[in-house]
Amino acid sequence: MTQSAPPAPSFPNRIPFAQARDILARVASESLLASEMVAPSQALGRVLAEDVVAAAPFPGFDNSAMDGFALRVADLDGSVTLELAGEQFAGQALSLQLGPGQCIRVTTGAALPAGADAVAMKEDTEQLADGRIRFRTSIAPGQHLRRAGEDVRAGETILRSGDVLTPAALSLAVAVGGDGMRVHRRPTVALFTTGDELRPAGTVLAPGEMHDSNRVLLQALLQAEGYHPVAWPVLPDDPTRIASALGDATDAFDVVITCGGVSAGEKDYLPAWLEAQGRIHFWKVLMRPGMPVLAGRVGDCQVLGLPGNPVSVFATWLTLGRPFLDALQGRREPRPRLNARLSMPVRKRHDRLEFLRGRLHCDADGQLQVAPNPADGSHRLRAAAEANCLLLLPDGAGEWDAGQVVEVLPLSPAIGG
Ligand code: AMP
Ligand code: MG
Repeated sequence: MTQSAPPAPSFPNRIPFAQARDILARVASESLLASEMVAPSQALGRVLAEDVVAAAPFPGFDNSAMDGFALRVADLDGSVTLELAGEQFAGQALSLQLGPGQCIRVTTGAALPAGADAVAMKEDTEQLADGRIRFRTSIAPGQHLRRAGEDVRAGETILRSGDVLTPAALSLAVAVGGDGMRVHRRPTVALFTTGDELRPAGTVLAPGEMHDSNRVLLQALLQAEGYHPVAWPVLPDDPTRIASALGDATDAFDVVITCGGVSAGEKDYLPAWLEAQGRIHFWKVLMRPGMPVLAGRVGDCQVLGLPGNPVSVFATWLTLGRPFLDALQGRREPRPRLNARLSMPVRKRHDRLEFLRGRLHCDADGQLQVAPNPADGSHRLRAAAEANCLLLLPDGAGEWDAGQVVEVLPLSPAIGG
């Protein structure tokens, strides 16, 4: 009996990492989440759905940058004292006018009295017994002034659709008169761990069982990005239970993320379920770890099937899942990647793109160095816990010497993640 080859799958299969990333980017651009108005206090980390134009200039008016005295510099030609004609503090608009030979006491942020062209710091002055102010240092025109609109002019575009709202971006929008901001909806996310062997955290295990450690890994990875994942009870390796629970979740959520059951084992039911119920964007990516990763959709719900090995979860979420959810919200700016010098040689014997776990640090010369963790098995969770970056070794086998520059994806926001 001759054996015929199995039919080629009807979806992209065993594809290069770059192709998987591009497929997800295209899917996301076709499935962009709707926008909503939110208050600035609720908008941190959200992605703008429209440009923000300054309604008002910033600063809004000429004002003092110091506590001190507003004056006209020319009046100090030949004299070191001026008459104190009044005071104008921040928040007051007294329409004070500086007469010849006069100065006006001001505080930081106070509107500049008409006619003044500089401010002298209080610390450089002294009030004399007759009430006049003596100026101990020379003063340049424009000194300690903040001019209206010198930072932003009214009508200028200060933030663009696709920008992520950082604390300073939110503050800037408010400073120029903004209030509600139009941002893309954050996806609702349902989270599933799957596997007959999994038991909840803290359970005393029977032989062959293990703790469901990926649950908190994924919950925490998502929470770190501001998502509020809804984690369902562990799914057993049972196709009926899988179809029922995932069917409910895909009806109700924007994104379903599963973990485990996407490989080639007897109990890996997810690819067949996704093919039957929806469509597969791709299955299996030429990356390590994370090769069996699955992506597709059921109706309007995007499904990401991450492999069960903990380090695969970690790497596929960070390199495919997170950018996908970024793109569903219209984020334009990619996550930062840096170049760093290897602190030890590495060798790769396979062709796939590899993501090693590593530690990034700055050496005494200010040069970024990365130390790869030699424990590279996809079950070696400890190496992931010790890492502050993923280190990319490009497609193709190769050897990299110590000191050679490689690309890294920082994990810690403190380093720019
Ligand atoms: P699978 O992809 O289902 O074949 O799982 C691959 C490996 O990851 C197996 O050793 C599983 O026991 C392990 N694994 C799967 N799911 C989890 C989980 N939620 N927590 C910890 N380990 C898991
Ligand atoms: Mg399994």
